[in-house]
Amino acid sequence: MLIDSHCHLYFDSLNADLQDVLERAQALGVGQFICVGIDLESSRKAVAIADQYTDVFATVGVHPHEASNVPKDFIRQLEVLLEHPKVIAIGETGLDYYRNLSEPVIQRSVFRSQLDLAYSNDVPVVIHNRNADREVIAVLKEAGIYKGVAHCFSSDLETAKAFLEIGLRISFAGNLTYKNNNLPMIAKKIPLKRILVETDSPFLSPVPFRGKPNEPWRIRYIVEKLAEIHGIDLDAMTKITRSNTENLFFFQ
Ligand SMILES: [Zn+2]
Ligand SMILES: [Zn+2]
Repeated sequence: MLIDSHCHLYFDSLNADLQDVLERAQALGVGQFICVGIDLESSRKAVAIADQYTDVFATVGVHPHEASNVPKDFIRQLEVLLEHPKVIAIGETGLDYYRNLSEPVIQRSVFRSQLDLAYSNDVPVVIHNRNADREVIAVLKEAGIYKGVAHCFSSDLETAKAFLEIGLRISFAGNLTYKNNNLPMIAKKIPLKRILVETDSPFLSPVPFRGKPNEPWRIRYIVEKLAEIHGIDLDAMTKITRSNTENLFFFQ
């Protein structure tokens, strides 16, 4: 069984026929889905979807793009959502200095308070990082975080090593399959026990669907690519990524 460790099922392109989306994935062996919040509203939607579907789990958090829109009591609101039995992590949260949709200083403060919330509740964090490698790692260290995943990894090997040293897992998405990038070289150097896979649906469709709205069933293209990179068979890679995801989110 495959697990999509990171998708956004509440976006219209998926939510409009969610039952079909999940069935299509299940027919191709994708048995569980982690639906990731990006702000308070989508976090609530993720929890509602997890409530409705046995195989969907939720994370709650505020994405750096949304950092400047949070109300003062957002941590309290996330804390309440965290009490739900199917909420398994805080995130996605982090820093995005590529688009800088929120001021860096606000991004940092909203990121740090979510890390503190995760730490005090002993739950893993789902980290978003774009063009902010050093700072993301510095903030994680300051907050004492050792449990989580660097989602949609797209930085360099040095950054991957720094995440691994802290204790985090590295998750690969559809961009692993894109031509002319160094991610396969980096993926080859990540210990198998620390690798996760995700679709980040509806974004980042893998080759040969690049540019189209993504769906969780396409997780298999990423697992296939990883299996090829590590020179092991697809079944073995499926088992490894599944148990890595379970160990991080379900059996901590
Ligand atoms: Zn992200
Ligand atoms: Zn995402």
